[in-house]
Amino acid sequence: MFKEARIKLTAWYLVIIMAISLSFSCAIYAGVDRELVRMDNMRKDRQSRIETIENILLQKGFPPPKDNFVKNKEMIKEARVRIITSLGIINLSILFLSGVGGYFLAGLTLDPIQKMVKEQKEFIGNASHELRTPITSLKTEIEVALRDKNMNLKSARELLKSNLEDVEGIQELSNYLLKLNHFDNFDNKIEILVINLGKIVSDVVDTYVPIALQKNIKITKKIQDININGNEESVKEITSILIDNAIKYSGKSKKIEVSTKKDGSLLVRDFGIGIKEKDLPHIFDRFYRADSSRSKENVEGFGLGLSIAKSIAEKINAKISVQSKEGKESTFVVEFPKV
Ligand code: ADP
Repeated sequence: MFKEARIKLTAWYLVIIMAISLSFSCAIYAGVDRELVRMDNMRKDRQSRIETIENILLQKGFPPPKDNFVKNKEMIKEARVRIITSLGIINLSILFLSGVGGYFLAGLTLDPIQKMVKEQKEFIGNASHELRTPITSLKTEIEVALRDKNMNLKSARELLKSNLEDVEGIQELSNYLLKLNHFDNFDNKIEILVINLGKIVSDVVDTYVPIALQKNIKITKKIQDININGNEESVKEITSILIDNAIKYSGKSKKIEVSTKKDGSLLVRDFGIGIKEKDLPHIFDRFYRADSSRSKENVEGFGLGLSIAKSIAEKINAKISVQSKEGKESTFVVEFPKV
């Protein structure tokens, strides 16, 4: 599909360039031809005057003067042919060069679109895959239950509980997808205001303290009051994603540190499973989950949290990065633009 589009685009480039080149050539030829006609008229004029003088000289017994230029009628014709040939060669060269250049430029133009289509295909594939698992489980469980004529209330409740978990999974995924779509949409401008980073982060931490405590994890705050250029909802969203992950991937560790600094940065540090070096460049990719979180620790997730955090950060001109030592700790840093 893209090869065909590339050839079509090259053809359009060629049509435009050749239309311009040919119009210029016609204009040049018309101008030069006008000059040649003027010169030809001058020549004819001069020749008729010379012929009159020649006749007079001949009548008086003098030899006629030699004037090859004036007599050479072929010169104008030759000049015309030479101009047409030169313009033809120039146009052919332009056709060849613009063909090669156009094909190259068409490739460059289509490259980002091709990448976007590829990413979108992958995204749809991944999203469908993630949806298929809970939907298949729901369907199978319900089918089996319907076939069981002696199902008692206890089993029915267990079934409903399991169904609810699957539905919650689907709901969570659809929420993630909606968020991704919202933050990836170029038309959705986020209002940037002067906001108090310390206060917002502190409030988010407070909402996570009880959740962390359920896992016996203590969240320590080191908050410095600092104003940044940002958006409250966006900062809350990023902070929540990072703290949520810190809790999920804490492993046996029981402490998390959340701090804001005077330079307008937010740090979320945990001392849990850490991230392998080979995974570090990919964890912000959509649907990427490191093997350790998929299998060994068996932590629930879709691999979308960090990609959403990154999309939000880009929207508010913030930069998100990570430093980690496998099996020891991870620190996520978000640098917000200072006021
Ligand atoms: P999810 O947590 O749903 O898998 P994320 O996009 O939030 O998706 O994270 C992507 C991957 O990055 C996770 O699967 C995990 O492997 C890794 N990761 C993220 N945060 C941490 C962390 N604090 N400690 C260790 N690994 C992490």
